[in-house]
Amino acid sequence: MAQTISYITGAQLLSLRRRPNIAIIDVRDEERSYDGHIAGSLHYASDTFSDKISDLIQDVKGKDTLVFHCALSQVRGPTCARKFASHLEETKEDTGIKSVLVLERGFNGWEASGRPVCRCTDVPCKGKTT
Ligand SMILES: [Zn+2]
Repeated sequence: MAQTISYITGAQLLSLRRRPNIAIIDVRDEERSYDGHIAGSLHYASDTFSDKISDLIQDVKGKDTLVFHCALSQVRGPTCARKFASHLEETKEDTGIKSVLVLERGFNGWEASGRPVCRCTDVPCKGKTT
């Protein structure tokens, strides 16, 4: 898998996320607990991301598209997405994951565009807003 990470816009994600084969990975750190999150997203904080890649792979079994984001998707989101892509490349594990994407403008852009934000405290978030 190439190290170039593609971006997806909030509008694209909004229509894609109803599909069962997509996983949204929130790599923000403590902000998730007070800023809310995209419903159904998994939380893998960037701080400890490298140690938890194998947990993440377990968590996304059956998904073929992973969308990473942080607050702005400028540093943490793309960095974690690249780490994840390199891990897949190195281990050559057959995970069935076909694309690793980054949400353009991150959570803040998502929220600023008025897209649905979940404020539950469930881990993992089971939210499925329409
Ligand atoms: Zn939630």
